[in-house]
Amino acid sequence: MPDERFKFVTIGSGLAGLSFALQVADSGPVCVLTKAEVAEANTSYAQGGIAAAVGEADSWKLHEEDTLVAGAGLCNPEAVRFLVRQAPAAIEWLAQLGAKFDVDAEGDYALGREGGHSRNRILHFADHTGQEIERAVVQAVRRHQAITVVEHAFVTNLVVEDGAIVGARGIVEGLGERTFSGEAVMLATGGCGRMYQHTTNPRVATGDGIGLALDVGAVVENMEFMQFHPTTLYHPQLRSFLITEAVRGAGATLRNHNGRRFMYDYDGRLELAPRDVVSRAMEAEMQKLNTWCLYLDLAHLPADAIEHEFPTIFSKLMEAGIDIRKEWIPVVPAQHYSCGGVKTDLSGRTSVRGLFAAGEVASTGVHGGNRLASNSLLEALVFARAAAQSLELEGVSGGPAHEAAPVNSITEAEAVRIRRALQHTMTRNVAIVRSNAGLAEAQAEVNGLLAEYAALRAAPFSAYALETRNLLLAAREVIAGAIARRENVGLHFNRDLA
Ligand SMILES: Cc1cc2nc3c(=O)[nH]c(=O)nc-3n(C[C@H](O)[C@H](O)[C@H](O)COP(=O)(O)OP(=O)(O)OC[C@H]3O[C@@H](n4cnc5c(N)ncnc54)[C@H](O)[C@@H]3O)c2cc1C
Repeated sequence: MPDERFKFVTIGSGLAGLSFALQVADSGPVCVLTKAEVAEANTSYAQGGIAAAVGEADSWKLHEEDTLVAGAGLCNPEAVRFLVRQAPAAIEWLAQLGAKFDVDAEGDYALGREGGHSRNRILHFADHTGQEIERAVVQAVRRHQAITVVEHAFVTNLVVEDGAIVGARGIVEGLGERTFSGEAVMLATGGCGRMYQHTTNPRVATGDGIGLALDVGAVVENMEFMQFHPTTLYHPQLRSFLITEAVRGAGATLRNHNGRRFMYDYDGRLELAPRDVVSRAMEAEMQKLNTWCLYLDLAHLPADAIEHEFPTIFSKLMEAGIDIRKEWIPVVPAQHYSCGGVKTDLSGRTSVRGLFAAGEVASTGVHGGNRLASNSLLEALVFARAAAQSLELEGVSGGPAHEAAPVNSITEAEAVRIRRALQHTMTRNVAIVRSNAGLAEAQAEVNGLLAEYAALRAAPFSAYALETRNLLLAAREVIAGAIARRENVGLHFNRDLA
């Protein structure tokens, strides 16, 4: 099996993986492995923006306070302070790479506001900030001679030697099995939203990093804190298209089928209450009225402002036959962001020697029980850069890795059946409102599906099948965390503990 040698290997080409690659590339060759096209990552779908205290009326202390409040007492205060203090420099770095952000008439950043922020501090590029950031980092990576990007390279396992991670093995489309070796591996594989029926996450968000990390014995934590986004489009064709919170920041209101602004019944902060509060209120309201969706109303906002500030949403919904200047948007909550993940320190080091993690796959302690809006792009950027700096200064460290047992594919037909069963039980039992019985049912179901997967006859390589196994492993962690958490805190809500 051909072995390609680099100084560092990065798995994932979203903001975390590419900013890490750019930071370490001056010290030696870097390989970026990514399972689809380079820009197919959660990063490209981010609409709202990236948070940083760069406004005159703002300070890192206020950003810190807001992040800690959102995290419901479960953040690592050191990690939060590190994040918010590094934020302006990280933004500056992105801007120098060529990422554009909207500015006002004076040429200062035009800062938006989202739920949980006490100041306007969201840098954005209309409603396609993630796409613009990804464009800038991909372009910089393409220009850098020391970085090799291998697209359609599905990583199947981490390579362990003398108890340390020294590479990644995978299947490259058209080439077959390959090993990519390096002094250290950065896990930047993003989220795991595909374990639910409704998610804002793209098809690549299948928890592969969680599976890879668990296979070598790395610590995974806080997976029960799963964030649901309150306002995703309810539409048969455009499933789970996100309507950014910035729309509510700009004055859009939520209404029920009777036209009533129901948030008055639930929380004084109304539509700008934290996402978990709005999502729970929406779920309760839908149950009360026995309806499948609710509505987001922008019709009272100036039509030209809607078109100018939210061009992607405007045109996408126009295609779907909804003129948001006049008509209400049908919306439902959907899985959006995983706050937990592979445990790291402030330098992105996991519990295992040679393995780093950054971005949505990682648990740095920044989000605690709930993520403050627009802190995730920032976290991906800040901690990937910190990992690169620490790696150059201190090399690798950490406990021994387990040797990962080889994992087989199963047929796609079996994998489809297993994934559907997983999504069904996670949506029914482990979503916004949980219960003891529901969690027990989900645990039995997921353990059963894992056993079934292991017992099925091995089939030729299928990325879909291996992703399904990774989703099962990640879901098992979500359920175990939810069962172990004996109080309702942050995003975890069990009606039997209320
Ligand atoms: C619709 C939407 C809107 C959002 N809006 C915002 C926002 O406004 N502000 C904000 O801060 N956050 C937002 N988020 C969250 C944010 O986009 C993500 O948390 C962040 O982009 C994660 O970056 P990442 O680099 O960790 O992962 P990603 O950008 O998801 O990249 C993961 C990469 O890993 C690759 N990969 C995965 N598994 C494998 C494997 N086995 N082998 C090889 N490659 C693999 C994928 O192909 C991909 O390239 C939003 C998310 C979504 C889905």
